[in-house]
Amino acid sequence: MFIGHYGPAVWDTQRGSGKPLIKLWEAFLAVQAMDLTAGVLVMFSLEGTRIVDDKPIFHVPWSHSLLSAVIIAIAAGLIYKLFRPKSGKKEFIVIALLAFSHWVLDLVVHRPDLPLYPGAEKLYGFALWDFPLIAFALEAGLLAAAFLFWQKVTVAKNKKYDYAIWALFVFMCAAHFAFIVRDGLAVQAGEFDPSHAPPDIVLGIAFLIVISLFAFLISRIERGRPSKFAAD
Ligand SMILES: [Zn+2]
Repeated sequence: MFIGHYGPAVWDTQRGSGKPLIKLWEAFLAVQAMDLTAGVLVMFSLEGTRIVDDKPIFHVPWSHSLLSAVIIAIAAGLIYKLFRPKSGKKEFIVIALLAFSHWVLDLVVHRPDLPLYPGAEKLYGFALWDFPLIAFALEAGLLAAAFLFWQKVTVAKNKKYDYAIWALFVFMCAAHFAFIVRDGLAVQAGEFDPSHAPPDIVLGIAFLIVISLFAFLISRIERGRPSKFAAD
C-alpha cells in the first residue's frame, strides 16, 4: 500500500474537545516508518524487488516482517520520545500503533511478500494489487476519507488551506499512479518489463524523498489548519 497508509494518520487529530497529541506530519512519518526503513535498505541493495511468476514482488524481509513491524513500531515510539522529550505514554502508543498499521494495510494489497519474521519462507499478502484499479480506488478512498475528516476537525485560517488539502490529495494520487498503478496495469496486461526498473540506489532514495515530501507538504498545510477543539 502507498497513499492508503495515510488514512489512519488522521486518527489522533480529533480527541473529543482535547488537543491532538501529535502533529499530522509526524503521523505521516509514523505510518511510513516501515517504508522509510525499506527505503534505506533498498539503497544498499539489502532489500528490493523480485520477479515471481512474471510479477514484481517486494523482497523486504527485514523491513516488512510481522516481527519487524512490532520492532519498528516500538522504535518509532522511542524516536518520537527522543525528539519530544515532554511527550508521554499516550503519544508513544499513538505513534507505535500508526507505525504498526502499515503492516496490516500492506497485507491487504501486497502480492505475497510479507513474512512473519525475517527469513521465514511462508509469505503473506492478499494481492489486491493484482486488481490495480480496485486497489487504487481503495487507497485513494482511504486518503480522501482521512482528508475529509481532517478538514472537519480543523479550521482553515483562510480558504487557501482548504484548497491546499485537495491539491495535495491530487498530487499524492498522481504519485501513487506513477509509482504503483502503472506497473500494476502493465502486469495485469501481461506487458510488465522488469528491465525498466530503476537501480536500487535510485529507488531507495526516491522512496525516502517522496515520503519526506508528503510529510513536509502536510506540515505546511497543517500550519494553516489548527485543531477546532483547542488552541495550538
Ligand atoms: Zn510497506
